[in-house]
Formats: sequence, C-alpha cells, structure tokens
Amino acid sequence: MSEFDVIVIGAGHNGLVTAGTLAKAGRRVLVLEARDVVGGAAVTEELFPGYRVSPCADGAGYLAPEVVRDLKLESHGLEIVPTDPVAWSPQPDGTHLTFWRDTARTAKEIERFSAADARSYPRFVALMQKLAGVVGGLARITPPDIPDVGWKDLPPLLKLAGPVRAMGRAHVADLLRILPMPVSDLLNEFFESDAVKAAIATNAVRDITWGPKEAGTAYTLLYYWALSGTGLFRSAGVVRGGMGGLTGALAAAARSFGAEIRTGAAVSRVVVKERRATGVVLEGGEEIAAGVVVSNANLRRTFFEMLDPTRLDPTFVKHVQNVKYRGSAARIHLALRGLPEFTALKDSDGDELLRGAIQIAPTMDAIQRAYDATKYGEFSSQPVLDVLIPTLSDPTLAPEGHHVLSITAKFAPYALRGESWEDRREAFTDRVIDVLAEYAPKIRDQIVHRHTRVPPDLESGFGLPGGNGNHGEMTLDQFFHMRPIPGHADYGTPYAGLYLCGAATHPGGGVTGIPGQNAAREILKRK
Ligand SMILES: Cc1cc2nc3c(=O)[nH]c(=O)nc-3n(C[C@H](O)[C@H](O)[C@H](O)COP(=O)(O)OP(=O)(O)OC[C@H]3O[C@@H](n4cnc5c(N)ncnc54)[C@H](O)[C@@H]3O)c2cc1C
Repeated sequence: MSEFDVIVIGAGHNGLVTAGTLAKAGRRVLVLEARDVVGGAAVTEELFPGYRVSPCADGAGYLAPEVVRDLKLESHGLEIVPTDPVAWSPQPDGTHLTFWRDTARTAKEIERFSAADARSYPRFVALMQKLAGVVGGLARITPPDIPDVGWKDLPPLLKLAGPVRAMGRAHVADLLRILPMPVSDLLNEFFESDAVKAAIATNAVRDITWGPKEAGTAYTLLYYWALSGTGLFRSAGVVRGGMGGLTGALAAAARSFGAEIRTGAAVSRVVVKERRATGVVLEGGEEIAAGVVVSNANLRRTFFEMLDPTRLDPTFVKHVQNVKYRGSAARIHLALRGLPEFTALKDSDGDELLRGAIQIAPTMDAIQRAYDATKYGEFSSQPVLDVLIPTLSDPTLAPEGHHVLSITAKFAPYALRGESWEDRREAFTDRVIDVLAEYAPKIRDQIVHRHTRVPPDLESGFGLPGGNGNHGEMTLDQFFHMRPIPGHADYGTPYAGLYLCGAATHPGGGVTGIPGQNAAREILKRK
C-alpha cells in the first residue's frame, strides 16, 4: 500500500484548497510544488529590498466564503482588509467617478456625470445581481456532460433549480440574451456617460484579449460580478502581507489537517498503468505512489509534458491544443517615495478614494482601441490601467512613508510583430508611466524602483501558458461544460484516478478556490 492516498501536483491556491479539503476528509495527501514557494500566481515577492509586492494576482476579494469557512483560514492567519470604494476612475478632464459598495452612494456620484445614468444604475445593479446569482450558483456545481447528459448530472442540476426559479422567467430570458452580448451593447442600453460605461466595461476585459465591443464580454463581466463578493463588477480587498498571506494560510490549513507539502519538487511524469494513474516521478527520479493524482498544473503541462500525448485520443489532444490562452496584460510594479498625487483629488479628499482599484480607462472606445493594437502584434500606445496601492491597506509592505503601486496594464500581446519584448519591455513601461502621469503628473519623480513582466515573463516565471493568468481565457466558448474542454468538465481525465483542479477547470480563473473545492468534492464522491 502506498504512503499517500492522494498526490496533488502544484501548490497554487486551487491545489492547496483541494489538498486541504481532501486532508480534512481523512485522506493522506502529499502536495508537490515545483517552485520554492507555495501559491502559484498568488504569492508575495520582495521584488526590491524592503518592498513586497503581489507579482500576479493582488485583488483578494474573490476567494469564496465557503473556502474560508471550511478550511478555517482566518484561524490560520488569513486577513483580508476590505476596501470601500470598490473602484475609482479619474477622468482626463480632471473629474473623477467613485464606485462604492453602496448603490445609492454610487448613484449620487454618477449624478455628476448624468442624471439619467444615476437613475439607471440601481436598476442595472439589481438586474446584474439577479443574473450573477445564477452564474455564482453554476460556478459551484459540476457541469453536466452536454450533450450526453445522464442521471449523474441530475443532482447538481436540481441544485440550480432553486436560484433559477427565484430569478423568474423574465430574468431567464435576460440571462440568455445578455450572456453572449458585447458588454458595450449591454452598457449602452443602460447608460449614456462614457465615464460610467468605461469604468464598468474595464472589468469585462481584464483577463481576456478582447475589447468591450466583442461578443461574449457581457458573460465575462457577469462571471466576475458573480464571484466578487461586493455585489458589484469587481472584488475589493487586500490581503495583509500580500497574496502570499492568503496562500500561506491555505498551506497552514492543509498541514493542520495532515497534508504534507514539499516545495522544490517538480513532477516530471505521471505514472500510468493500465489507463490508471498510480503515482508520479519527480525531476530527480524519485517515484511516489498514490491511489489518486490531482493536477493543479495547466492542461498543456499536464497532458503534453507529464503524460505522453501519443497515448491519448487524438480528439482529446486536439481539444487540449485548442484551449485559448492569449495573455495580453503586463504586470508593472513601482516602488514610490510617497503617495502619488492625482490632479483629480483635492488635499481634503485624503487617501480614501485610492484604497480600492484605480481604473484608468476614459471611454469604451479607448478600451477597444487599446485592444485593437494586439490584433496587429503591437502594444497599446494608450494602455488601460488597473492600479492598486496595497500599502494603503497594509503599510508593512514598504518602508515607512513609501508605497508600492501595482499595475495590470492592457493591452500587451504575448508576441510582438517584428520586434522582441527584450527590446520593447522598457518602452512599454515608459508608455504606461506616461499614461499614469497624465493623471498624477509628479509620479516619475517618486519612482524609486520599477519592474515589468510582460506575458512571456508571466509564462516563464509562473508557468502560465501564453502569460494568461487563468490557465485559459474566461470567454463564453470556454465556459461551464466546455471548461477545460468539452466532455471533461467533471474534473476527471481520460485516465482513472487522474483529476484536474486548477483554474483551467470550471468555473475558471481568479483566486476563488472554487475549482479546487469542486474537484475535491468530485474525488470524494468517486473514491
Ligand atoms: C497578472 C495577473 C493578475 C491577476 N490578478 C488577479 C486578481 O487581482 N485577482 C484574482 O482573483 N485573480 C487574479 N489573477 C488570476 C489568478 O492569479 C489565477 O487565476 C489563479 O492564481 C490560478 O490559481 P491556480 O491554483 O489554479 O493555478 P496556479 O496559481 O498557476 O498554480 C499552479 C501551480 O502548479 C505548479 N506546477 C506546475 N507544474 C508543476 C509540476 N510539474 N510539478 C509541481 N508543481 C507544478 C506551479 O508552480 C504553480 O504553483 C491574475 C493573474 C495574473 C497572471
């Protein structure tokens, strides 16, 4: 008998959730992580001496409340500092728009841009919350195997019946109409102000290589709306200690339930005997046996590197090859002496408005044009910026009086046409800082250090194919029963005893822990 019931390949947050959940259920679990730290794309890194950043994910509020509760993460040190405002959008004309958690308070802000939009906003939020309730419910079930729906699919589908009925027939029609829409069409139905539309639309394209005028972007907005925990289009919260604080708590929880975690332990091969996974081989040659193997790694690595693709069904291989990654965001970190001074703010405003996300995207057309550049292998000359200053919520991340400012900058394609990122990385960073300086003119003088990762850097540094943070884009064609690929949305694989649990699987990306928890539920059901 092997020492372990389950081996989890990868200690990304989803791998840790699966490991913790299975260990809590009494399974003997071993987690093997290739890097020297746990957390995958949710880590903290001392990028410059004395300044700690969250190199990839930094918005922490997506973590599902049931994961926090079931794994007792708060007793293992997790502290999420919620932020309100949720988002603040400075405008090119020196005005600004704030989205608070409170709908009425936000409507008052919107009134300064359009009285009609202020009246529409509560109606829009109410509709989106209704639809998001169903998308959030879908996220937590195992998708049926469409079109081959069988008896096994009935219990999860029945769970959905309640929320769908509560939504009402009219809203079912709304959901079916809205999911495939371009988010621009949806927002044009409700709003007239560029500022309002752009601020919301930014959140529909954050993790995909599409502009707001592309079909299906309304679904992406709904996905993040459903999981945000704010009742709005994005989460709002910072983990004390950076995102490594979150995955550190997950690792501590998994260990407390008896799981063993080894870092610096890259799996080179999954051992398969008679079409059943029986263990793994590490890069050094060590073989470890287990009844169940779960991969938190992306599909390419799992099926094309750790397994032999020539032994897989060609249709399956084709589907895996066809997964769309297309990362198009760069991550830029600035270490600053002092807080940036935004011209849109008066001294009397203090720093409250800067505590949530700072979104720089003046119009939907501007976002679309920024995206257009990627179609021609260029980076955008007017990038869309999603900025967080985590030191406002956790000053321990930088020396006293100093700040960390982290930017997710779009759009920056994986490959530049006729040029190399090696030659253009700094030019793109300069462009991003130029755009920021249009709103905070003194920022250049405040920069002590700067650091940029473009999509190929995210791929090589964090094992994210194409530099896409979600192991596959969050688009409608990679949704629900088609995630990670059609016919395999139940966390299983063509091999008995081999499962998937990462962001490639349903419901997808973001630091939610939901794929990890869903996978653990399926594994427990089948053993
Ligand atoms: C720039 C960027 C910004 C983002 N911003 C946000 C945000 O603000 N909020 C949010 O919620 N989400 C954000 N995301 C998305 C989020 O980070 C990911 O969706 C999520 O972290 C994926 O978690 P995971 O556990 O599924 O996979 P990963 O975090 O990718 O973990 C996979 C793990 O498997 C390990 N592994 C792979 N192969 C092997 C092997 N052979 N042997 C052993 N170990 C292996 C890897 O080293 C890694 O640790 C962002 C992503 C990026 C890239």
